Amino acid sequence: MMKKTPIYHEQVQPLPDYPRLCGEQRFDVCVVGGGFTGLSAALELAKAGFRTALLEAAQLGSGASGRNGGQVLTGLAPAMVTVARQLGHAHAQMLWDLSVAAVATLRRGLAEADMADAFRPGFILAANRAAHRAELVEEYNYLTDRLGYGALELLLQPEQVAARLGTRRYVAGLVDHGSGHVNPLAYLNGLARAAEKAGVTIFEQSAACRFVHQPGGEKVNVYTDRGVVRADRLLLCGNAYQRHLATPMQAMIMPVGTYILATAPLPEALAAEILPSGVCVSDMNFVLDYFRMTPDRRMLFGGRVSYSGLPPVAVAHRLKRRMCAIFPALDGVPLTHCWGGKVAITRNRLPHIGRTPQGVYFAHGYSGHGLALSGFAGQVIAKAIAGDLTQFDCFARIDHRPFPGGGMMRAPLLALGALYYRLRDLL
Ligand SMILES: Cc1cc2nc3c(=O)[nH]c(=O)nc-3n(C[C@H](O)[C@H](O)[C@H](O)COP(=O)(O)OP(=O)(O)OC[C@H]3O[C@@H](n4cnc5c(N)ncnc54)[C@H](O)[C@@H]3O)c2cc1C
Repeated sequence: MMKKTPIYHEQVQPLPDYPRLCGEQRFDVCVVGGGFTGLSAALELAKAGFRTALLEAAQLGSGASGRNGGQVLTGLAPAMVTVARQLGHAHAQMLWDLSVAAVATLRRGLAEADMADAFRPGFILAANRAAHRAELVEEYNYLTDRLGYGALELLLQPEQVAARLGTRRYVAGLVDHGSGHVNPLAYLNGLARAAEKAGVTIFEQSAACRFVHQPGGEKVNVYTDRGVVRADRLLLCGNAYQRHLATPMQAMIMPVGTYILATAPLPEALAAEILPSGVCVSDMNFVLDYFRMTPDRRMLFGGRVSYSGLPPVAVAHRLKRRMCAIFPALDGVPLTHCWGGKVAITRNRLPHIGRTPQGVYFAHGYSGHGLALSGFAGQVIAKAIAGDLTQFDCFARIDHRPFPGGGMMRAPLLALGALYYRLRDLL
């Protein structure tokens, strides 16, 4: 029987259970959500001297942070040439620099938790067809010549890609030696331990069901079923998993399901044939395949999407078919786990980070590109709360629009729009 839980739970030391919030407690800041965003914000706030509470509806890491593909990527979800077209070169440069800082920050966090080795360097953006080649060249030129990034390598011949990836499926590739991969739950648990050590008070099984501002100010009471946190500031980090709290920001994101299949550990000889360079990979299709090998030689193969909240029919079988089309040698290897999770996408695929007129901070909508960015966004907001708005403003001034169709129609409309791009993937 294939397990439906992320393999990561079997690979890392579990965290202790944290208590449920009961009764009334007073803090400087209340952070809602125990993923990368919330934990890193809480950690930074506590380090800066704020008495900080973190409310998690279920367990820390039970959202996207504990179940993602583990790819630690520079940049943002769209290509940087697209970002520059939308926002202009100067703004794109700032966002790019912050994204590189996000990866460096994650690596520093791992090193501080004695887990520097957990980061495995290298990422390849793999071109599925000839038409993608020009996009790769344009992105390479922009990143190298205009943004001054020196960690890229362009592979324009299929044989060059095959030598790195062990498959002839791709026609070209862009290697980023500055990106890489990690066990995301190990990173999350490291953040949680650091946050606790820094003095954050963590509550699990404590969903915030509503918040009420105290008259005439930003002070806020945040209610759970058994208690209330009274705080000067509130930070919402529920992202695609946000529950109970209906806010205007929710209209800017759309939760979309994505799925991952894990094989049993591969025999050494087979693992050496597949992904010989040890990098992680995403392809360039609209509904993309993403994969990597874990240190215990399991292939983790991700992809497929769902706009309805329900997994696609026979998702494990469909992922297996795609995986074996790329690596035929994997046909017949035992499959042990298949799980899914929700990413929050925005219309422009850029993260939505800001502050409401009533002073509630929020960060969400990393659009499937949030492993490094979300932890960094948490720090950026913590700095903003402490008075340094430089990095925060760089994100907050990105213009975001709600998805059309309101609560009922936006998922079907998005699915319809996506169909067009999926058909294009097939051409
Ligand atoms: C299958 C999958 C694969 C992915 N692969 C990659 C990848 O390879 N690389 C990459 O860069 N990104 C990837 N992502 C995206 C990345 O995981 C996310 O961007 C990132 O984890 C978001 O972190 P977060 O803290 O904002 O949200 P989450 O980790 O989702 O945390 C939100 C938390 O808030 C809690 N919560 C919600 N509502 C409440 C409430 N009312 N009260 C209290 N708590 C609440 C939830 O229980 C949850 O624990 C992937 C995502 C998925 C699902």
